[in-house]
Amino acid sequence: MSHLIAGNWKMNGTPASAEALAAELIARVRNAKAPPPGVVLCPPAPLIPAVLAVTKGTPVAVGGQDCHAKEKGAHTGDVSPVLLAELGCRFVIVGHSERRADHGETDASVKAKAEAALKAGLTPIICVGETEGERERGETARVIARQVEGSIPQASTAANTVIAYEPVWAIGTGKTATTADIAAVHAQIADLFGAGHGGASGLKILYGGSVKAANAKEILATANVRGALVGGASLDADEFWKIIESCPR
Ligand code: PEP
Repeated sequence: MSHLIAGNWKMNGTPASAEALAAELIARVRNAKAPPPGVVLCPPAPLIPAVLAVTKGTPVAVGGQDCHAKEKGAHTGDVSPVLLAELGCRFVIVGHSERRADHGETDASVKAKAEAALKAGLTPIICVGETEGERERGETARVIARQVEGSIPQASTAANTVIAYEPVWAIGTGKTATTADIAAVHAQIADLFGAGHGGASGLKILYGGSVKAANAKEILATANVRGALVGGASLDADEFWKIIESCPR
């Protein structure tokens, strides 16, 4: 499977709506004419068991939206990567810009979480991306370099890690980066990763930021784009399925 489409449900849903959404997607995956790309659903932590119950034995994977850097202990409200793995999750998002902004996460703390995820046997989806001000000041390449170097653990390889390029100004705003800008940043990430982690061949670099059915085909066909991290549009089965079907085959 060459592409990966990850749905970040953020802080949305109830057990009933989560089960229904997952079941609808699984039905479409099962009825697909051509083998679909990799699909991962990232529900809020309390809904993970409900979604896992529906996805068990299907090709649809489940991931957390965050994890702690420690396996267990006195960390009220946090989620252990080991627990996510034991439940049956295969992925975990780390360093999402909403967590960097809302919870003061730094490159160093994101790296520690990604390291813990790898140790637990999870594939971290490590998010990087510049703010609107940084892009306007021409700092995008410098910010991406700092985040890639600071947030990706030494143990990461092209096979065990996924990177998501998510310009902060494009998340939930309806604005998307141009395909030229996406291609440039993805090439930079591939170069930086390749130099520090034994090559970037096969590395999945996802784009995220207002991906929807209407723009998915163009974005997913862009050089070095190997999938998408989808927020709002992943809450609608029709819209998310159209994005999944937009992957080049
Ligand atoms: C996200 O939350 O990672 C995201 C890209 O959100 P949206 O698709 O809503 O912009």
